[in-house]
Amino acid sequence: MISFNRNETGGPRKIGLMGGTFDPIHVGHLVTAEEARQQFDLHCVVFVPTGIPPHKKEEAVTHPEHRYLMTSLAVMSNPSFFVSRLEIDRSEPSFTIDTVNHFFRSEDPDPELYFITGADAILEIFTWKDYEELLSRCTFIAVSRPGYSLDRFRGTLRHTCPDLLDKVHLLEIPALAVSSTFIRERVALGKTIKYLTPEPVEQYIKKHSLYRTDI
Ligand code: ATP
Ligand code: MG
Repeated sequence: MISFNRNETGGPRKIGLMGGTFDPIHVGHLVTAEEARQQFDLHCVVFVPTGIPPHKKEEAVTHPEHRYLMTSLAVMSNPSFFVSRLEIDRSEPSFTIDTVNHFFRSEDPDPELYFITGADAILEIFTWKDYEELLSRCTFIAVSRPGYSLDRFRGTLRHTCPDLLDKVHLLEIPALAVSSTFIRERVALGKTIKYLTPEPVEQYIKKHSLYRTDI
C-alpha cells in the first residue's frame, strides 16, 4: 500500500493531484507542485502521468514506463511527493473525472482533493467529461505560466463563467519559462538540459537516448 492512501490523522486529508504528460518532468512542474503544497497546506502531491493522452498523438509521446520512471526519479527527494501508475496502467485513455473519482473513493473519510493545472487549461474545462461532477469533487488550483498571466485569466473567467471563480484558486508561481517541449528540442539539438530537470532525470534521458533525432 502506498502511504499517500493511508489516513494517519483520522481527519480528511488534503491531497494535491497533478496530471501531465511529463515527457519529461521538469523544474516548472516541481516548483508548481511544491508551491501548491505549501500555499494550500496539502498533505501530499500525487503526480499522475497520463497513459494515452487524449489530446496528444500517441506515437508522438514517449513510452509511459519511461515517463513514469523519470517522474519517480524526480520526486524521490521530496517526502510529500508521490507518483501514481493509475493512468498509465489503463488500456483506455483516462479522463480527469475517472482519476479524481479514484482518489476520492480511496480514502475514508473523503479526502479534500486539489487538482493542480496550468491556468490556460482550466478555460477548456467545459469540454472535459462530466465537468460539473468534477467541479463538485475537487477544488482547482490554476497556476500562472510564463506567457499566460493570471490577470488575463481572471478577466476571461469573469466574462465567460463567473461561477467558476469560486471553484478555482489562482496561484502565482515563480516564473520558469521551461516546458517539456523545450527540453526535448534542446536534447535533439545536443544542447545541455542541466538544471532544467533534476539530475537523475537528466541521466536517465542520456542513458536511454530519449529525444534524440540522430539515432
Ligand atoms: P509539453 O511542452 O509537452 O506540452 P509541458 O511542459 O506543458 O509539456 P505537461 O506535462 O503538458 O508539461 O504539463 C503538466 C501540467 O504542468 C500542466 O497543467 C501545465 O500547464 C503545467 N506546467 C507545465 N510547465 C509549467 C511551468 N513551467 N510553469 C507552470 N506550470 C507548468
Ligand atoms: Mg503542455
